[in-house]
Amino acid sequence: MSSSPVARHLDEVRQRIAKAAADASREASLVALLAVSKTFPAEDVRAAFDAGQRAFGENYVQEAVAKIAELADLRSEIEWHFIGPLQSNKTKVVAENFDWVHSVDRLKIAQRLSEQRPDGMAPLNVCLQVNVSGEESKSGVAPEEALALARQIVALPFLRLRGLMAIPEPAGTLDEQRVPHRRLREIMDTLRADGLELDTLSMGMSADIEAAILEGATMVRIGTAIFGARDYSN
Ligand SMILES: *Cc1c(COP(=O)(O)O)cnc(C)c1O
Repeated sequence: MSSSPVARHLDEVRQRIAKAAADASREASLVALLAVSKTFPAEDVRAAFDAGQRAFGENYVQEAVAKIAELADLRSEIEWHFIGPLQSNKTKVVAENFDWVHSVDRLKIAQRLSEQRPDGMAPLNVCLQVNVSGEESKSGVAPEEALALARQIVALPFLRLRGLMAIPEPAGTLDEQRVPHRRLREIMDTLRADGLELDTLSMGMSADIEAAILEGATMVRIGTAIFGARDYSN
């Protein structure tokens, strides 16, 4: 049987996840794979779909909406996740087109997403993005403000708060990579101890899948290792 490069890369990523889960004595089936297709064409998403992948992540609203439209025939089977920075003027399009948003870091954005979620659609799944790397990164709520913001978000009617997301600064060794992922998991533990019912730790990218899974990731967001290096020149 011939297989596409995307299908082969997906297999390799699934094997990395399985090995990391085994090393962590965790069930591999409890680590969901989000394929990050930003900058790649609809045909690559279709190739991944044909290889069994169902959840896809996008960062840029316009690009994503065009791709979702091109893949309308697969809409009921694909889960679309918005993972990029989100401005107020784009919340409506995101609320109308996506199943998940991982990058909520302000109450105002969450309120708009809830208000703009169309009638008849399931509540929008959201993760709170937490800044676990300090000043280096501008996105994400500060760790000490995560609990207060989470409590406000769970009160919004058309959102379902699922958990936390982080984009740690790149780090060298496995042990160094584990530090910010552990931080995010500890914040999640604090929120759960407060009574919030959260099931999603969205962390781990192509370079640090293993560190994230060792620290408890339940969803890894993988682009490069599946689709190849991104070209931003267009
Ligand atoms: C692009 C992106 C990814 C994927 O990163 P890779 O290193 O290509 O795997 C994951 N998460 C977010 C938020 C991204 O923007």
